[in-house]
Amino acid sequence: MAEVIPHWLTKQADLSPEAIAMELEDGSTVTFKILKEKSQRFAKQLAQRGVSEGSHVGILSTNQIPMIVAIHALSYLGAVGVLLNTRLTAEELNYQVTDAEVSILITADHLKESCQTLNVNHIQSFSDIEAQPGKEVTLKSELDLGNTFTIIYTSGTTGFPKGVLHTYGNHWWSAIGSALNLGLNKDDKWLIPLPIFHVSGLSTSIKSVIYGMPVYLLEKFDTEAVHQAIINKGITIVSVVTMMVQRLMDRLGDESYPKTLRCMLLGGGPAPKPMLERAKEKKIPVFQSYGMTETASQIVTLGPKDALEKIGSAGKPLFPAQLKIEQTTDELVGEILVKGPMVTNGYFKNEDANSKLFDNGWLATGDVGYLDDEGFLYVVDRRKDLIISGGENIYPSEIESVLSGMEQIREVGVAGKTDNVWGQVPIAYVVKHKEVTVEAIYTYAEKRLAKYKLPKEIHFVEGIPRNASNKLVRSKLIDLY
Ligand code: ATP
Ligand code: MG
Repeated sequence: MAEVIPHWLTKQADLSPEAIAMELEDGSTVTFKILKEKSQRFAKQLAQRGVSEGSHVGILSTNQIPMIVAIHALSYLGAVGVLLNTRLTAEELNYQVTDAEVSILITADHLKESCQTLNVNHIQSFSDIEAQPGKEVTLKSELDLGNTFTIIYTSGTTGFPKGVLHTYGNHWWSAIGSALNLGLNKDDKWLIPLPIFHVSGLSTSIKSVIYGMPVYLLEKFDTEAVHQAIINKGITIVSVVTMMVQRLMDRLGDESYPKTLRCMLLGGGPAPKPMLERAKEKKIPVFQSYGMTETASQIVTLGPKDALEKIGSAGKPLFPAQLKIEQTTDELVGEILVKGPMVTNGYFKNEDANSKLFDNGWLATGDVGYLDDEGFLYVVDRRKDLIISGGENIYPSEIESVLSGMEQIREVGVAGKTDNVWGQVPIAYVVKHKEVTVEAIYTYAEKRLAKYKLPKEIHFVEGIPRNASNKLVRSKLIDLY
């Protein structure tokens, strides 16, 4: 039996027409009623351009109102949005638009020029679409939770990006699971400095509609803009990645944030412990979380009650989700398996990856971690990046976390290198923040790491290889030296 709910934006526009859906840096706002009207108009304009139920529509944009309007418009037509990362090269974009069978690409006005080399027959800017008279079509008044709404590609950190299918139900349960965990306050205002083309940003704009909550939208991350918004604009929740927390703490200096900020939701990658401890000292309410594109945003979050006690943990699975560790040896650490209604049904037309994705109905995340005796998850690393040295398991992110605590170090990446004696050994690549010697790094590391975990070589480099999602690509580290 189909599980159907009223169209979420129509519903919210009906419940709270004058409530603010979006607020911009310049102070302008959009209400739910206006957002609905704009989205419905845009849907009819898209229909005029041939978009209909099941069409795959590429969206290439930085965070801006027309992008959110376009996404909601697709839901009024039953079309599928393929959200594309603006930092990808033309070649990378071509891979995704071809793989996802995109028939029309909608871009932010300022990006249209740069799209001309893409393999899509129809490329239209937001303004091109808005100039259409619009076609009278019947818009959806309901959403079937089993239908696909979006395709988002994974970051491609471990191989080619994979197109994750998200149903309305995945997004719905992600929003509900998050609310059951973080709670909902009537004065909540959620700041999105993360791109909407990633699942974390997209999920917040969907939460806005389901909760009736304003989002504060930044076109892109900017330390000063985020800082000012938290201090002056009554932001209660902000989604961030590690790099942002670091920059925000530097900006904050000896000041502190107002009490209005109740949650800095940290996700997307490992959180170095020294950074979390610094945040704790500054009384910044950092909530670690764990999730991936495949889980439609965070699936595990450290709740407010435990944030200070369980530093370094990603928390417990959200209410409607389950988690277990697949132990292959008698070690505590094993692959993290998750299950729940926010978890994808699979990748678009990728039988090979799909056949490896599930293990008896549980999603095999490819990450390894362990649970403490109270059931709190500690994410250790990606399974693929495990270094086995003389029979000992070494997780590069542990070494990175330790070295990143040294104030002279700005960034560090660790990868395994083949070694005749040990099989593999860890090698560290360090970007300096201040002058430091290799000897000084060893002196620091020896106090904090077991001998077999000490990097066999330490190289100073100008930068660390990162992908378009700004994630460290360890497989490219070894090429640096
Ligand atoms: P690909 O799947 O293409 O290799 P990716 O896994 O980097 O790329 P995303 O879906 O953007 O693509 O990222 C999810 C991954 O980010 C997780 O599987 C995990 O490896 C990492 N991650 C997320 N949260 C945490 C966390 N709290 N601690 C450690 N790693 C995390
Ligand atoms: Mg992945």
